[in-house]
Amino acid sequence: MILIVGGAGYIGSHVNKELNKRGYETVIFDNLSYGHEDFVKWGNFERVDLEDVERLRELFCKYPIDAVMHFAAFTYVGESVEDPQKYYLNNLKNTLNLLQVMLEFDVKYFVFSSTCATYGNPLKIPITEDHPQNPINPYGKAKLMVEKVLEDYSLAYGLKYVALRYFNAAGADADGEIGELHDPETHLIPLILDAASGKREDIKIFGTDYDTPDGTCIRDYVHVTDLADAHIKALEYLKNGGESDFFNLGNGNGFSVREVIETARKITGKNIKAVEDRRRPGDPPVLVGSSDKARRILKWEPKYDDLSKIVETAWKWHEKL
Ligand code: UDP
Repeated sequence: MILIVGGAGYIGSHVNKELNKRGYETVIFDNLSYGHEDFVKWGNFERVDLEDVERLRELFCKYPIDAVMHFAAFTYVGESVEDPQKYYLNNLKNTLNLLQVMLEFDVKYFVFSSTCATYGNPLKIPITEDHPQNPINPYGKAKLMVEKVLEDYSLAYGLKYVALRYFNAAGADADGEIGELHDPETHLIPLILDAASGKREDIKIFGTDYDTPDGTCIRDYVHVTDLADAHIKALEYLKNGGESDFFNLGNGNGFSVREVIETARKITGKNIKAVEDRRRPGDPPVLVGSSDKARRILKWEPKYDDLSKIVETAWKWHEKL
């Protein structure tokens, strides 16, 4: 049975769906601080906080867990600067709790949600896995610290891990069963779609004077179902004897904020009002990843390889909210 920690959240719930579709049994641990219980439509569910090591032990006794995928983390970069302790306690310390109980129960397979934020400001584009890692905020630092812990635990205790460094997760399940729902929402695509549906008046463009062709930031958007597929491929790779490793997950294509808005206008048919605003602190102008390593070693092939397809699934989900 596969344990999905944070399986009531955006990416974890899509992984849960994919695992069940492919015949895996799953159990979800989530404290529902940000997750949604109605996103847990498959597998078993336990409401539990990673702070509670005793309860984790009980649950590891209850379920025959043989691998763990870990998505439970706070993800607001700005908040991580204002309240770093919140991030180090949850994203780092609670992950150590989870690993501790895994080791006690001799569970050796671990797939970890890491992030392109571990690279910090890129020195070259596209970013490859060997790019220096100099995160510029506590969110990225805590993720990098976990990566370092995984390296040490792997050497000392035989833990087998894959850490997946996502670029910009986007889109929703093609059947419209689950999707992106954050409170507060800070991500570009859901905010644009809020402007399309009239929930918000406009979309603010954070910075129009960057050194990019249209002056706005460029990001690499990758579909959440493609991310889910990569997690399952990573797990199968480990179970087949693959070495512990780190992989980027992105499409390798960059789109500017203006291009994303234009694409959303076409898909939704709505006249989305865009307002030019100041830069958001801490945003690098361009973040685009090379996923050649994941393609080569994990045989990962993203299916949603163009932005329209990604925005289309996001809109289908958004219209139902
Ligand atoms: N962005 C924007 N307006 C918004 C939200 C985001 O212009 O209301 C920009 C943001 O500055 C970044 C890009 O959109 O360049 C993607 O931001 P998001 O928060 O979705 O993801 P991030 O790249 O921060 O992980």
